[in-house]
Amino acid sequence: MAFTLPALPYAHDALEPHIDTTTMQIHHGKHHQAYVDNLNKAIAGTPNENKSLIDLVKHAGSISPVVRNNGGGHWNHSFFWESLAPNAGGAPSGKLGEAIQSAFGSFDAFKEKFNAAGLGRFGSGWAWLIVKDGKLEISSTPNQDNPLMDIAEVKGSPVLGVDVWEHAYYLKYQNRRAEYLAAFWNVVNWSKASSLYEAAIK
Ligand code: MN
Repeated sequence: MAFTLPALPYAHDALEPHIDTTTMQIHHGKHHQAYVDNLNKAIAGTPNENKSLIDLVKHAGSISPVVRNNGGGHWNHSFFWESLAPNAGGAPSGKLGEAIQSAFGSFDAFKEKFNAAGLGRFGSGWAWLIVKDGKLEISSTPNQDNPLMDIAEVKGSPVLGVDVWEHAYYLKYQNRRAEYLAAFWNVVNWSKASSLYEAAIK
C-alpha cells in the first residue's frame, strides 16, 4: 500500500507569526510530499512495499539509503506537524513538566540544552526530546534519521522534535536558526508531547 501525505492538523497560517504561512505550505505540500512520493517510488515492487512506516524506520540499518532518507523524512515530518499547534507553547505541566524539572533542573535549562542540540547540528537534521530507559534525554540526528532507528547514536522514544533543516526556517529567518528555535517554543504542542511521554514511560 502506498504511503500518503497526512493532512496538516491546522491551517497553513495557524502558526503565524512564529512559523509563516509560505514556509508551512512549501514544507508540508512540497518537501513532505516529496518524501512520500520518493519513498513510494523506492519501495514499489520490492518486499518493503508491504511494510509499515515504523517497521521501515526501526530497521533503517538494513534498508537502502533512499528508503531510509525518505522513510525517515515521512515519519519525522508526520511527527513534527503533531508536535506543533496554534495557541500553544508555554511550559508543560503534569508528569512531563515534573520530569523535565527533575532531568534538567528547570524548564529554562531544558530549553537551553534543546536549543543547543538544534544549533549544534551541523548541516541538516533534527533535535529531539526522547525517553531512553525511562528517562528524558536530549539528542540530535543528521539528515532524516531519528531516535527510533536502529542506527541512531542515541536511541529512544521521541516526545518532541524540531526540524532544523534550512527549508524549515529560511524564508522567514534566513540563516538565523537560533531565532527560529526561539520562536518554536511559542507553538509547541505540550499536550501531544505529554501523552507521548506518558505512553513511553508505561
Ligand atoms: Mn523538513
